[in-house]
Amino acid sequence: MLMMIRRTLLWACAALASAAISFGALIFWPDPLFAFSLRAGKIIVASDRPIPPAGGERFLHDCERLLERSPLEAQGREYRLYVTNADWRQRLFFLLRPDPWGLAYSYPLGGNAFLTGANFETGRVVHWGYVGTPPRTLAALCAHELTHVIAGEHVGLARFFVPQWVWEGLPDYVGIENRQSFEELRDALGDHPVDVAMMQRYGFYPRYRLLVTYFIEKKGWTASQLLETRLTTDEAIQIMQADGR
Ligand SMILES: [Zn+2]
Repeated sequence: MLMMIRRTLLWACAALASAAISFGALIFWPDPLFAFSLRAGKIIVASDRPIPPAGGERFLHDCERLLERSPLEAQGREYRLYVTNADWRQRLFFLLRPDPWGLAYSYPLGGNAFLTGANFETGRVVHWGYVGTPPRTLAALCAHELTHVIAGEHVGLARFFVPQWVWEGLPDYVGIENRQSFEELRDALGDHPVDVAMMQRYGFYPRYRLLVTYFIEKKGWTASQLLETRLTTDEAIQIMQADGR
């Protein structure tokens, strides 16, 4: 009996380990599942559906332009973004986090980014039939997710120590097309309580962006300083608020 339990446990562990290894391989090398691709500069977008040339190129140039004004230098040779239009592909690549519109798996020497679905003609993201609206355009999401990959290249495994307000705030700062000044963003956000369901899930992003904007604009911090800080969100907020008094 004990022998049987042990054998079953061993098999379960082996099955889990091989599933994890297969998933890792898929994230590392998703290309066989994406038949179409287009490149501009350093960015390659791959999709499971044909990419309309005009819309695809416009999207790539928009994403590239957003990344060019990033305070974080893209040191890699190329960056890959995969669009998972088909439901099963979306389920597979977003297995660990089904809700977001985009995801980045970054590892020390690079990484890959994924978007759920795309309409290249309109420049909008499509997620389970829902169409994303500006400022979260396809190009903004591309710049956001690729900034995660670029940040991963800069900090390696230390990314797990980068505070959440920097890890999400910096990509948001890079991805937003019409970047607001610190004062504009602070006044726009105000002190409204976060009570809408959507806001509870994603509403912290503009607040993280506000903090990043503050430290870049008012404190003169570089992207490296941001990635090296270990200030918690509350500590960063306190510093920002003390400055306003
Ligand atoms: Zn993000």
